[in-house]
Amino acid sequence: MANTINNEALLHQLKPKHSNTGTSIFAVMSGLAQQHNAINLSQGFPDFHIEERLSYLLGEAARTGHNQYAPMPGLPALRQAIAADFKKRYNLEIDADHEITITPGATHAIYTAFAAILQPGDEAIVLEPAYDSYIPNIEMNGAVAVPVPLIAPDFRVDWNRVKDAITPRTRAIIVNTPHNPGGAIWSKKDWDYLADLVRDTKIIVLSDEVYEHLIFDGMHHYSVLQHPELRERSFALYSFGKVFNNTGWKIGYCIAPRAYTEAFRRLHQFIAFCVNTPAQVALALHMPNQSAMPVNTQMQLKRDHFLNLIREVPFTIHQPSRGSYFQVAGYERISDLPDMEFAKWLTLEYGVATIPLSAFYKNKKDDKLIRFCFAKKEETLDEAVSRLRGLKAK
Ligand code: PMP
Ligand code: GLN
Repeated sequence: MANTINNEALLHQLKPKHSNTGTSIFAVMSGLAQQHNAINLSQGFPDFHIEERLSYLLGEAARTGHNQYAPMPGLPALRQAIAADFKKRYNLEIDADHEITITPGATHAIYTAFAAILQPGDEAIVLEPAYDSYIPNIEMNGAVAVPVPLIAPDFRVDWNRVKDAITPRTRAIIVNTPHNPGGAIWSKKDWDYLADLVRDTKIIVLSDEVYEHLIFDGMHHYSVLQHPELRERSFALYSFGKVFNNTGWKIGYCIAPRAYTEAFRRLHQFIAFCVNTPAQVALALHMPNQSAMPVNTQMQLKRDHFLNLIREVPFTIHQPSRGSYFQVAGYERISDLPDMEFAKWLTLEYGVATIPLSAFYKNKKDDKLIRFCFAKKEETLDEAVSRLRGLKAK
């Protein structure tokens, strides 16, 4: 008891640097799932094995002596493999030496990009619902997050509202396609609208493209890097976790013009310095190889399987996910509980953990929506939905 009081008094002396002082929803719901032995469809991570070859390469890298610090910007071989990948997939020329930095996950890359741009008092626009690190990252840099809602139920951008949110203090906008949690994807037109709005301003774009490979129904990802005008003023952020189903490796990268990359590395060198060497070696060797089944096909099958199953439960699917690991569903026919309470109740009573969408809003807006992660083995999805079959419409 004495210890608790001491902790609270000590914590009180340390002024929080951002407004979200609770614990991240991903830790909360995964913790709850574990505690109650629930199937975890909350935090976004696959429950199946990574490719055999990739784990073999990781072991080999450690066995053959790649166990010391990597160069600060990332292993040259990995940066070159990324540049070759962007040439192959998007026909883009990326300078591996001056435009790519390897990071400990996209979360770190997003933080570092904000830190490189923002000064106290600046404003940064966030399209909500939004990944939960964006707003704290903005605030940790003394800047003000300006939330702009996406249009429900398909999470489209309301460009008039974005325009209205821009002020002379706006320094950044962070965008995310394919979108977590909404599963929406941007068209070239969206990028053109954004370009029109930021032209002749000092606004820098952060483009979170961690789900670029996970796009369904024959649609294509359009990267900010393919938009020449925007590319000049953007940081593009990526995560290997979503490409190779190894989220626990926590390796990502940032692609940005040379000057922005220099500003980014100025900070990265003193926050992380560099990233896990054997994993970089393994990824550099693995990247040029195509897997037997592209990750988008594999993930689309999972989405379809989940959508087929969930039809038997009275959730409302307003729109099938077009990309990412996630499907949003409404539970208004089942319960009137606030979404956080509903997600907890579902975990405890039905043994299935999900994420309440209010966690993706600064003001905790509750639209009676939850997010399911379908990046799971078929048998996991089968078991989860069989547990949910007992749910009845009110
Ligand atoms: N952005 C979005 C939209 C995400 O969903 C995630 C979670 N994986 C990240 C960034 C962070 O990626 P990483 O795990 O590589 O830090
Ligand atoms: N990106 C994952 C999600 O949205 C989780 C990342 C995390 O745990 N911070 O579920």
